[in-house]
Amino acid sequence: MKIIVFGPQGSGKGTQAELIARRYGWPYVSTGDIFRFHLKNKTNLGKEANEYMKNGSLVPDELTNEIVSERINHPDCVAGFVLDGYPRNKAQLEFLDKVSNIDLAIIINLGDEQAIRRLSGRLACKCGLSYHSDFNPPKKKGICDKCSDRLFRREDDNPEAIRKRLEIYHQETKPLLDIYQNKKKLFQVDGSKSIEEIFRQIENVINIRLKTQITDV
Ligand code: AMP
Repeated sequence: MKIIVFGPQGSGKGTQAELIARRYGWPYVSTGDIFRFHLKNKTNLGKEANEYMKNGSLVPDELTNEIVSERINHPDCVAGFVLDGYPRNKAQLEFLDKVSNIDLAIIINLGDEQAIRRLSGRLACKCGLSYHSDFNPPKKKGICDKCSDRLFRREDDNPEAIRKRLEIYHQETKPLLDIYQNKKKLFQVDGSKSIEEIFRQIENVINIRLKTQITDV
């Protein structure tokens, strides 16, 4: 199944997208993670993307579309994938429509105030996992549960970049939801609920859709 997880920054979309990927065995594809990987490895793409990322702007569509298309054309994505952070605007959605066929879009709704509060306490790890100092703390303070590396604050989780990212989300990403709603492919979930409750609801809807797919064959 080909899934997109939408939500404002701080809604927990990355956490849910990873849970779905792990539960069903579909690759987790996060454009933000791919850019951060390139940045860490000091590639030209990483250096270019960072000019936009550090202040919360979008990386140009041509670059972003290319990395997504390359990733989802990989053989491990044939049965499905879970997209996090893409598409973020109309041009990206139109590109995605040409290269793939999305089955389900999930939106994790969360108000700006709550999103800002969550982002302010967010802690990231180089392995891709993220935590929150209050809502989802690691077992040992400042240390990743999975790889024992030291957690850090993302460079773009500063007040100015957070404000910019939320503004872009409202102006450019949120309007995309109507398109999936009209295609009856949108599932909405309340992001203020616990991680477990949100995942339970998402799992339900995926299982129902998987059953329907099997019956349709
Ligand atoms: P994220 O981890 O999804 O919050 O992404 C971090 C940053 O990577 C964003 O603020 C953008 O600068 C860049 N980025 C991630 N996904 C995209 C995308 N679909 N289009 C453009 N820029 C992106």
